[in-house]
Amino acid sequence: MDYCDWCNLSEEDKRFQVYESKSWFVFLSDEQDYVGRCILVLKRHCNSMSELTDEEWDELRNLVCKVEACLKAVLGAALCNWSCLMNHFYKEEAPDPHLHIHVRPRYDKPIMMNGRIYADSEFGHHYALHKSGVMPEEDREEVFLRLKEWLNR
Ligand SMILES: [Zn+2]
Repeated sequence: MDYCDWCNLSEEDKRFQVYESKSWFVFLSDEQDYVGRCILVLKRHCNSMSELTDEEWDELRNLVCKVEACLKAVLGAALCNWSCLMNHFYKEEAPDPHLHIHVRPRYDKPIMMNGRIYADSEFGHHYALHKSGVMPEEDREEVFLRLKEWLNR
Protein backbone atom coordinates (compact mmCIF):
# COMPACT_ATOMS: atom_id res chain seq x y z
CA MET A 1 0.00 0.00 0.00
CA ASP A 2 1.89 3.04 -1.25
CA TYR A 3 -0.23 5.62 0.54
CA CYS A 4 -0.38 3.92 3.92
CA ASP A 5 2.07 5.32 6.48
CA TRP A 6 1.91 2.11 8.50
CA CYS A 7 2.94 0.01 5.51
CA ASN A 8 5.90 2.32 4.92
CA LEU A 9 7.51 2.77 8.30
CA SER A 10 10.93 4.42 8.15
CA GLU A 11 13.93 3.38 10.21
CA GLU A 12 13.22 6.47 12.29
CA ASP A 13 9.65 5.26 12.88
CA LYS A 14 11.09 1.93 13.99
CA ARG A 15 13.53 3.55 16.39
CA PHE A 16 11.42 2.50 19.38
CA GLN A 17 10.67 -1.05 18.28
CA VAL A 18 10.81 -3.26 21.37
CA TYR A 19 9.87 -6.54 19.73
CA GLU A 20 8.97 -8.16 16.43
CA SER A 21 7.30 -11.45 15.58
CA LYS A 22 6.61 -12.92 12.16
CA SER A 23 3.46 -10.85 11.56
CA TRP A 24 3.61 -8.09 14.18
CA PHE A 25 5.75 -5.19 15.35
CA VAL A 26 5.66 -3.89 18.92
CA PHE A 27 6.69 -0.27 19.45
CA LEU A 28 6.96 1.83 22.56
CA SER A 29 4.42 4.62 21.93
CA ASP A 30 5.45 8.23 21.42
CA GLU A 31 2.94 8.99 24.12
CA GLN A 32 4.02 7.75 27.52
CA ASP A 33 0.98 9.12 29.39
CA TYR A 34 0.85 5.61 30.85
CA VAL A 35 4.39 4.44 31.46
CA GLY A 36 5.28 1.62 29.08
CA ARG A 37 2.40 2.31 26.71
CA CYS A 38 2.99 0.31 23.52
CA ILE A 39 1.40 -0.25 20.16
CA LEU A 40 1.15 -3.54 18.27
CA VAL A 41 1.15 -3.09 14.50
CA LEU A 42 0.31 -5.84 12.03
CA LYS A 43 3.00 -5.98 9.34
CA ARG A 44 0.58 -6.48 6.47
CA HIS A 45 -2.15 -4.04 5.52
CA CYS A 46 -5.39 -5.25 7.09
CA ASN A 47 -8.48 -3.24 8.03
CA SER A 48 -9.77 -4.93 11.17
CA MET A 49 -9.34 -7.68 13.73
CA SER A 50 -12.06 -9.65 12.01
CA GLU A 51 -9.82 -10.03 8.97
CA LEU A 52 -6.87 -11.56 10.80
CA THR A 53 -5.73 -15.01 9.69
CA ASP A 54 -5.61 -17.88 12.19
CA GLU A 55 -1.85 -17.60 12.31
CA GLU A 56 -1.97 -13.85 13.02
CA TRP A 57 -4.51 -14.46 15.81
CA ASP A 58 -2.28 -17.13 17.35
CA GLU A 59 0.65 -14.78 17.29
CA LEU A 60 -1.44 -11.96 18.72
CA ARG A 61 -2.54 -14.16 21.60
CA ASN A 62 1.09 -15.00 22.39
CA LEU A 63 2.05 -11.34 22.10
CA VAL A 64 -0.72 -10.22 24.47
CA CYS A 65 0.54 -12.73 27.04
CA LYS A 66 4.18 -11.76 26.50
CA VAL A 67 3.68 -7.99 26.54
CA GLU A 68 1.42 -8.15 29.62
CA ALA A 69 3.93 -10.34 31.47
CA CYS A 70 6.66 -7.86 30.51
CA LEU A 71 4.77 -4.76 31.67
CA LYS A 72 3.95 -6.46 34.97
CA ALA A 73 7.46 -7.81 35.57
CA VAL A 74 9.47 -4.80 34.41
CA LEU A 75 7.27 -1.87 35.43
CA GLY A 76 4.94 -3.35 38.03
CA ALA A 77 1.71 -2.83 36.07
CA ALA A 78 -1.37 -4.16 37.87
CA LEU A 79 -3.28 -4.73 34.62
CA CYS A 80 -3.32 -3.68 30.99
CA ASN A 81 -5.97 -1.80 29.00
CA TRP A 82 -6.04 -3.09 25.42
CA SER A 83 -7.82 -1.19 22.68
CA CYS A 84 -8.26 -1.41 18.95
CA LEU A 85 -9.85 1.89 17.95
CA MET A 86 -8.75 3.21 14.54
CA ASN A 87 -11.31 6.00 14.65
CA HIS A 88 -9.06 8.61 13.06
CA PHE A 89 -8.91 6.63 9.79
CA TYR A 90 -12.66 7.17 9.50
CA LYS A 91 -12.27 10.90 9.19
CA GLU A 92 -11.17 10.16 5.63
CA GLU A 93 -13.63 9.95 2.79
CA ALA A 94 -12.54 6.41 1.92
CA PRO A 95 -11.30 4.83 5.14
CA ASP A 96 -8.67 2.13 4.71
CA PRO A 97 -7.29 1.54 8.20
CA HIS A 98 -4.13 -0.35 9.04
CA LEU A 99 -4.72 -2.61 12.02
CA HIS A 100 -2.96 -1.63 15.23
CA ILE A 101 -3.67 -2.22 18.90
CA HIS A 102 -2.85 0.01 21.86
CA VAL A 103 -1.86 -1.25 25.27
CA ARG A 104 -1.86 1.02 28.28
CA PRO A 105 -0.41 -0.44 31.47
CA ARG A 106 -2.25 0.63 34.60
CA TYR A 107 -0.68 1.12 38.01
CA ASP A 108 -1.99 0.91 41.55
CA LYS A 109 1.33 2.25 42.86
CA PRO A 110 3.47 5.14 41.59
CA ILE A 111 6.58 4.29 39.55
CA MET A 112 9.96 5.88 40.29
CA MET A 113 12.33 6.56 37.41
CA ASN A 114 15.54 8.59 37.57
CA GLY A 115 14.19 10.40 40.59
CA ARG A 116 10.86 11.23 38.96
CA ILE A 117 7.52 9.84 40.09
CA TYR A 118 4.79 8.69 37.71
CA ALA A 119 1.36 8.03 39.20
CA ASP A 120 -1.72 6.53 37.55
CA SER A 121 -4.18 8.90 39.16
CA GLU A 122 -7.15 7.35 37.31
CA PHE A 123 -6.39 3.80 38.47
CA GLY A 124 -9.59 1.77 38.64
CA HIS A 125 -11.20 3.97 35.99
CA HIS A 126 -11.12 4.42 32.22
CA TYR A 127 -7.78 5.71 30.97
CA ALA A 128 -7.55 9.48 30.52
CA LEU A 129 -7.45 10.76 26.94
CA HIS A 130 -5.54 13.92 27.66
CA LYS A 131 -3.15 13.41 30.51
CA SER A 132 -0.88 16.26 31.43
CA GLY A 133 2.88 15.96 31.69
CA VAL A 134 5.43 14.78 29.16
CA MET A 135 7.98 12.11 29.96
CA PRO A 136 11.57 13.33 29.57
CA GLU A 137 13.62 11.63 26.83
CA GLU A 138 15.91 10.06 29.42
CA ASP A 139 13.03 8.20 31.05
CA ARG A 140 11.47 7.14 27.76
CA GLU A 141 14.82 5.72 26.69
CA GLU A 142 15.08 3.78 29.93
CA VAL A 143 11.58 2.33 29.56
CA PHE A 144 12.44 1.42 25.96
CA LEU A 145 15.65 -0.38 26.89
CA ARG A 146 14.09 -2.24 29.81
CA LEU A 147 11.11 -3.49 27.80
CA LYS A 148 13.25 -4.40 24.80
CA GLU A 149 15.70 -6.34 26.92
CA TRP A 150 12.95 -8.29 28.72
CA LEU A 151 11.01 -9.10 25.52
CA ASN A 152 14.11 -10.33 23.69
CA ARG A 153 15.63 -12.41 26.47
ZN1 LIG B 1 -1.03 -0.26 5.69
